[in-house]
Amino acid sequence: MKLRDKNAFITGASRGIGRAIALAFAEEGANVALGARSMADLETLASEIEARGGRAVPIELDVSSGSSIANAKAEVSEKLGAIQILVNNAGIAKSVKVVDMDDEHWQSHLDINLTGVFKITRAFLPELLEGRWGRIINIASTAGKVGFQYTAAYCASKHGVIGFTRALALETATQGVTVNAICPGFVNTDMASAAARNIAAKTGQSEAEAMDWLRKLSPQKRLVEPEEVAAVAVMLASEEARGINAQAINVDGGTVVY
Ligand code: NAP
Repeated sequence: MKLRDKNAFITGASRGIGRAIALAFAEEGANVALGARSMADLETLASEIEARGGRAVPIELDVSSGSSIANAKAEVSEKLGAIQILVNNAGIAKSVKVVDMDDEHWQSHLDINLTGVFKITRAFLPELLEGRWGRIINIASTAGKVGFQYTAAYCASKHGVIGFTRALALETATQGVTVNAICPGFVNTDMASAAARNIAAKTGQSEAEAMDWLRKLSPQKRLVEPEEVAAVAVMLASEEARGINAQAINVDGGTVVY
């Protein structure tokens, strides 16, 4: 077990990639705090983890609200104690042309995908530094390295996450805390299904055709599975990965090569 007795907080754990990371961490012996807005989904996941002999606590969290972050921080501390591993995974992705983009679209992407990462990190960083051992893993995207059409707010937020990751990694480098990002291509979750639905609605293709188009963006002609992202998160969280810092690791079948 690579993460035995470590405490981890995973945001956006109610479904998709966050859920897969929570399951993989628990499998490796970590106690996991599960953050998201959908408490019912978190409770189901926590029961699943506990049924397998793990420890999991559901925590209500809206990463775009300062007071929700403060409450979640207090609840994690009370129920789990200090954490050593933070996974900033919660995110949204919508698409619209810039000429049609309203303030709400722009601001919500920045608030949830970027400012949320900063505020959650700021809340938990002191205890990671105090423990002199920590891992911060930010789920960015290949959209944090290259631009994709009609997703300017999403791309801007994810480029920001990578910049934040690289800068913070240098601040914590001598204190036992590594900070890295994972950059998935299209992953088989609700987010990719919503993207396919949106493409279908705008192009007149069927949803299946749109999904096929998404698959073909990867040289491997497939979507990444959430468990593949989770496996990289486990690796980054492990003791063996202590030399990996300030990196943004693609999990995209080779679509983006830097
Ligand atoms: P998903 O299935 O739509 O899940 C998104 C998660 O984020 C949910 O657990 C959701 O929980 C949570 N979330 C959204 N807004 C939140 C908020 N304001 N406060 C707290 N939690 C919030 O998406 P996913 O595919 O697993 O994506 C996870 C991460 O991977 C995101 O950062 C995404 O940008 C990134 N990513 C995804 C893909 C992809 O193709 N799927 C590719 C590259 C990167 P609640 O709704 O319950 O709050």
